[in-house]
Amino acid sequence: MSEKKRPVILSGIRPTGRLHYGNYFGAIYHFLRLQEQEAERYYFIADYHALTTITEPKGIFEQTLDMLRTYIACGLDPAKSIVYRQSDLPCTAELTLLLGMITNIGHLERGTTYKDKFSQLEDNPKVEGNPLSYGLLGYPVLMAADILIVRADQVPVGDDQRQHVEMACDIAQKFNSRFGEVLHIPEAVSRNALRLPGLDGSSKMGKSDNNTLDLLDDPKTALKKIQGVPTTTDPLPLDTDSNEPEMVIPKMPPGVGVLYRLLHLLAPEDVYLDFLGKYRRGEKFYGMLKKTLAQYVAEFNAPIIEKFHAPENSDDFIKDFLRDNAKKVTPVALETVEGCREAIGIGHSLYRA
Ligand code: ATP
Ligand code: MG
Repeated sequence: MSEKKRPVILSGIRPTGRLHYGNYFGAIYHFLRLQEQEAERYYFIADYHALTTITEPKGIFEQTLDMLRTYIACGLDPAKSIVYRQSDLPCTAELTLLLGMITNIGHLERGTTYKDKFSQLEDNPKVEGNPLSYGLLGYPVLMAADILIVRADQVPVGDDQRQHVEMACDIAQKFNSRFGEVLHIPEAVSRNALRLPGLDGSSKMGKSDNNTLDLLDDPKTALKKIQGVPTTTDPLPLDTDSNEPEMVIPKMPPGVGVLYRLLHLLAPEDVYLDFLGKYRRGEKFYGMLKKTLAQYVAEFNAPIIEKFHAPENSDDFIKDFLRDNAKKVTPVALETVEGCREAIGIGHSLYRA
C-alpha cells in the first residue's frame, strides 16, 4: 500500500533588517501553526534575494544569523523544520537559469515589485546603486526556483507575495507543458493572506521601508514608534452595513487603520471592540489607544527579546544548524534540478553523478 505523501511547506524571508509585525502575522505565525502538522517544512533565509535592494552587502551574514535567532525566539522549533540559507543551496541559481530560458520578459515586467521600483524611479531618478537590475526583474524567477526546487505544496507568505507565487505556478506550468510533467505546481496563496500597513500609513510595513514595528523593539522604542503614527485625519464614515469589525478597518484613515489592525491582532476582542465603539462615537481617544497598544506590544515582545538573547542561540549553534540543514535539503533540491536538466535535453550533470 502506498504511503500518503506529507505536504511540503516552503517559505523565505530576506535578511534585510529586523523582523516586524507584518513578517510575524504574514508568515511566522503560519510557520508556528504548521509546526504541529505532519509535513516537510523548509524555511530559508533569502540572502540572494536581499542583494536586489541592499547596495552595501556588509552585514547580510550577521543579519542572516539574527533572523534565524528571531525565528527560534518566536517559537520555531529547530528540530521540526529545515531552515537554510538560500546561498547554501547554489543549485537554486542553476534552476533559476533554466527557468529563465522559458520566462518572457513581458511577464516579469508586470511584476509588482519591479513596476513599483520603475515608477519610483520615474519620480526620483537619482537613486544610489542599480535599482532596476537584471536581478530585480528576475526576482520572480529566483522565487519560482526556491519554491519548485523542494516541490512545495504550500507557500505561507503575506499578501504582498501572492503575485510572485502565482508567477511561480505559471512558470512551472509553462515548463511542464514544454518538457513534460517534471515540476510540482504549488497551491495559490489564500485571498485572506495579510498585508499589514506601515506605521507611516503606507500600504505595507516593510523591513526596507523604515516604517516597521519590530519584534525586538523594547517598550520605549515601541511606544515612541506608535506615538509617531499619524492620526490627525478626521475619522471617515464607517461602513454601517457591516457587523464585522474587521470590515471597518479599510475605511479608516491609514494611520488609524494600522493601529486598529495591530490592536485586533494583539488585544482581547472586548478591548478591541471597546476602542472601535469610541471610533464610532467620534470620541477623542487616540492617545489612549496608542498607550494601550504599546502595552500589548511590550507584552508580546518581552519573551521574544529574552529568548533572542539566550546564550544557547549562540553564533556557533546557529551556524552549525544552518550547515546541517543545508546538507539535508541539498539532495531534495538536486533531484529536481537533475530532473529538469534531463527533461530539457542537456542531460544529467556528469560531475555530480
Ligand atoms: P523587504 O522590505 O526588505 O522586502 P519585507 O518586510 O517585505 O522586507 P520579506 O523578507 O520580503 O519582508 O518577506 C518575508 C515574509 O513576510 C513574506 O512572507 C512576506 O509576504 C511577509 N510580509 C512582509 N511584509 C508584510 C506585511 N506588511 N504584511 C504581511 N506580510 C508581510
Ligand atoms: Mg518584501
